[in-house]
Amino acid sequence: MGETDKRKIAAVVLAAGKGTRMKSSIQKQYMELAGKPLLCHSLDAFERSPVDEVIVVTGIGEEKFCRETIINPRGFSKVTKIVPGGKERYHSVYEGLRAAAGCDYVLIHDGARPCLSQAVILAAIEGAVQYSACVIGVPVKDTIKVADDHGFAETTPDRSRLWQIQTPQAFSYELVFQAYEKLFQSLENQKGITDDAMVVEQMTSCKVKLIQGEYSNIKVTTPEDIAVAEAFLNLRKSKG
Ligand code: C5P
Repeated sequence: MGETDKRKIAAVVLAAGKGTRMKSSIQKQYMELAGKPLLCHSLDAFERSPVDEVIVVTGIGEEKFCRETIINPRGFSKVTKIVPGGKERYHSVYEGLRAAAGCDYVLIHDGARPCLSQAVILAAIEGAVQYSACVIGVPVKDTIKVADDHGFAETTPDRSRLWQIQTPQAFSYELVFQAYEKLFQSLENQKGITDDAMVVEQMTSCKVKLIQGEYSNIKVTTPEDIAVAEAFLNLRKSKG
C-alpha cells in the first residue's frame, strides 16, 4: 500500500438514522447482533484496519449514551470523536467530514452495515488513493425495472451495467469536503441525495470508480436482515 503509509486515513461511521423500518423499540444501531451491538461490528473492523482515526456520527443528543455505553466499555482506541448528525444522511455525513478535517483520505461507512471485511476496507483505501473517489458495490443479480407512476414496468435497464452500491465510499478528503460544501450552497442541489458518490458526481468533475466488494456487506434495514447479517457474521467466525 506504499503511498498510503504516510497518509492520514479517517473513517466516518454513520449511526444517526432513526431506523424506523426496523420497527424496534431499541435503536437499530444499538441492537444486539451476533453477541454485540450492531454498530460495534464495523467499529471493530476499522479498529483492525490501516485507518488512523474513526469519527462516529450519532443521533442528536445520543453522543453521551454512545460514548458511555458503546465506545468506552469496548476501548475503541481509534474513535477520536463522537458527533451529532442531522436530518438526512447527507447532513450527518457533512458533520462527520467537518470532524475529520486534517486527514488525507476519508472512508464514509453506514454503521448499519456490520459485515464489513478487511478486504473491502483495503480495496476502498486503495481506490481512494488511485482514483480520488470510489465506491464499493456489487453487480446486480436480479433484473431491475423502472416503474411508471401507476406501478407498471416502464423500462428495463441493461443488467450488465447495473451495480448495487454499498459503503465504504472513499475519497480524497479535500475533494469530497469541497463537494459537500457546494451541495449546501443551494437547496436545489440537495434533492434526492442518497449517497456520497452522487455528491461528488454532481458537484465536481471527478469520476467515481466502482469497486467490486462483497454480497455479504448488507445494510441492516428491516427485521429479516438481522438473521441474514448474523448468518454471514457467524459463517465468517467459523472460518476464522
Ligand atoms: O437510512 P439509510 O438506511 O439509508 O441509512 C444509511 C446509514 O446512514 C445508516 O447507518 C444510518 O444510521 C445513517 N444515517 C445517518 N443520518 C441520517 C440518516 C441515516 O447517519 N439522518
